[in-house]
Amino acid sequence: MAENTFKLTYATMFNPPEELHTRFEQVLADTKGKLGLEHGMIINGEERYAEEKFEDSSPTNTETVLGVFQKGTSKDADDAIAAARKAFPLWSGMKWSERVSLVRKAADLIDQRTFEIGAVMAMEVGKNRMESLGDVAETADLIRYSCYQMEKNEGYIVEMGRDPLVGYTATNTSVLRPYGVWLVISPFNFPAALTGGPSGAALVAGNTIVIKPATDTPWVVRLLAECFRDAGLPEGVFNFVTGPGSTLGQALIDNPDVDGVTFTGSFDVGMGIFRDFAKGLYVRPTILELGGKNPALVSRNADVERAAIGIVRSAFGLQGQKCSACSRVLNEEPLYDTVVNRVVELTNKLAVGDPTDREVYMGPVINNSSYQDFKNFTEELSQAGTFLTGGKTLTDGEYAKGYFCMPTLAADVPLNHRLWKHEMFLPITTVTKVGSLDEGMKLANDVNYGLTAGFYGSPEETKWFFQNIQAGVTYANRPHGATTGAWPGFQPFGGWKGSGSSGKNAGGHYYLPLYMHEQIQTNID
Ligand code: NDP
Repeated sequence: MAENTFKLTYATMFNPPEELHTRFEQVLADTKGKLGLEHGMIINGEERYAEEKFEDSSPTNTETVLGVFQKGTSKDADDAIAAARKAFPLWSGMKWSERVSLVRKAADLIDQRTFEIGAVMAMEVGKNRMESLGDVAETADLIRYSCYQMEKNEGYIVEMGRDPLVGYTATNTSVLRPYGVWLVISPFNFPAALTGGPSGAALVAGNTIVIKPATDTPWVVRLLAECFRDAGLPEGVFNFVTGPGSTLGQALIDNPDVDGVTFTGSFDVGMGIFRDFAKGLYVRPTILELGGKNPALVSRNADVERAAIGIVRSAFGLQGQKCSACSRVLNEEPLYDTVVNRVVELTNKLAVGDPTDREVYMGPVINNSSYQDFKNFTEELSQAGTFLTGGKTLTDGEYAKGYFCMPTLAADVPLNHRLWKHEMFLPITTVTKVGSLDEGMKLANDVNYGLTAGFYGSPEETKWFFQNIQAGVTYANRPHGATTGAWPGFQPFGGWKGSGSSGKNAGGHYYLPLYMHEQIQTNID
């Protein structure tokens, strides 16, 4: 397969070359010839099959079975952890530069397979073509970023000062060393990046890993696991298990032989994991990347076009199912009508349909439970406020067999309504007028989350925004997305408050050390 000649990021995806579409379509057609196959788990380098299986169906057409996957048991969880434990001495004992080169090989394979994984992603997640390819490209870049950090910091081995010991020569060395067995539990919405990113960091650091994807997206993660396998990682260094979070996932969390976890997903499940993990014999690192309720604050001095485009992209990209989705718009009164009218106009132009189609921006929501949530939330909002657009599911014709929802903007919802604070994780955004920026900021920060936030206004106001907003990823005056569109090395991603536990962002300077503990080595010659 030819190398990609186009550097894909979330910022460049708006104007891709024709060649990208041609290739996507070819690979999609090939991939459709491989539907319905059974896929194993990978434990200790071997395929593992469970007695019970589950079907992975497409949210675009629920009659399409994409693949059959294993319903792993607690025995599979324990075996995967035991395999990772067995492989730890070899992997952690390897020179860091050798680990970097093996892990980088996996990133190169992901790049080479971008279109294959992207085609599966579009069918499995319901993510549009460009965003599917972006998710895969980001995965390779996240992994490479960890490799780069390891190299830049020369393996995190630092000579410290020498103590003034008369008659002796002492050396003191600080070394960051891996913890051991690391769990990576990922969500459905960015199955590649949010599995691959933490996995890459954990591996480069010298940990061995067990990966568990969301039940809605096992195929993408299986393809990712194959990249680690085919890169030549020794057996047991990475292990891939599939099955329900409530049973298999819980068994992984409850196993005392786990040394650290990266969980990306909802606040409630994440906090449950945090509490369960705390029942161990001692404190173990728990990296949680959780939900968001991300505001866009629009000043009377905003560039209306930028604000409107940015809001629409962030509210409805991936059907509002991004942790960074713009779910609240707080608009200063003088520009309220102008901005909101333009947002509605642009929203009404969004194409909803089969996400593998070139022209489609919004695919279906992920599963029946989200689809029912959409109906319930829109019913609740219809009683509290008014819809500027949307508010309904789509059920006719091409939509009949999938979970399609209209992009929805709700206004006049009282500010004390619970849905101003609850992460709906759907294509629903609530908008309101604010009398002043200070009032807007107060509302923006008045939630338990603090993931991303956007602002449109003057340079002076922008400084004020950055200073006062409580969020880990902040954007100003950006038409590419009011609250979305992070990329490793450019906008490292992580949340404050209830949106994350570590206070350090993935794909940034401070991330990789989270996967290692420090040892000071004092030696007297
Ligand atoms: P969930 O919390 O439902 O699930 C996430 C993962 O946890 C899945 O693999 C799930 O498995 C597993 N899981 C569920 N219960 C347990 C358990 N008891 N023990 C161990 N694992 C368990 O999240 P979603 O997949 O629905 O993802 C959406 C959420 O993720 C949103 O809240 C979103 O904001 C957040 N998110 C946060 C990001 C960030 O960087 N901060 C990025 C992306 C998403 P199964 O599917 O089998 O239930």
